[in-house]
Amino acid sequence: MDIIEKLTEIFKEFPGIGERQAKRFVYFLMSRTGAYNENLSSLILDLKKEVAQCKECFRFFIIENNKKTQICEICANPHVDSSVLMVVEKDSDLESMKKSKVYHGKYFILGGLVPVVEKNTKSRVRIDELKKKISTEARPQGLKEIILAFSISPQGEHTDQYAREQLKDVTEKFNIKISSLGKGLSTGTELEYSDNDTLKNALKNRQ
Ligand SMILES: [Zn+2]
Repeated sequence: MDIIEKLTEIFKEFPGIGERQAKRFVYFLMSRTGAYNENLSSLILDLKKEVAQCKECFRFFIIENNKKTQICEICANPHVDSSVLMVVEKDSDLESMKKSKVYHGKYFILGGLVPVVEKNTKSRVRIDELKKKISTEARPQGLKEIILAFSISPQGEHTDQYAREQLKDVTEKFNIKISSLGKGLSTGTELEYSDNDTLKNALKNRQ
């Protein structure tokens, strides 16, 4: 494999990027100056140094002032409503929900959706981590409701069902309600791209 093919293969792994787009990225980089590419490579390297993954919700967050913290500012904030836990697919879903300011509870990032045909589901999403999180958060004055907030697509709906089945035992044990965001949202809705009103209505009409 030559260097163009190698880089193309890497870009192809990026979400939503196909072969042709990947190749266009490589040609774009070739047309840039050495300084541009150096800056890009060093930023990529710094990303791992300046960002940590929260041990509680699994979101990525910027480490501020070199603090050695493993908990993000949402999970560490005592004013966040810890009676609700919203389960989302990915970081960008959490960010748009957070930005909308319509939800004030905690989050959990599942790390993916479950395809309708899938043999080894457990290895792709953090369902075991989620069960563990629910058990630790379920205490008097603690967790009361799980809100499943996946995109409105066959995969999103399948993930919703899968999560309900998987969480049945633990939620029944601790008497925790499970609801789903987006009943009443139209098909194809992505949390990531939804506006504030849509999110507000989805939250209000959750069931
Ligand atoms: Zn967190």
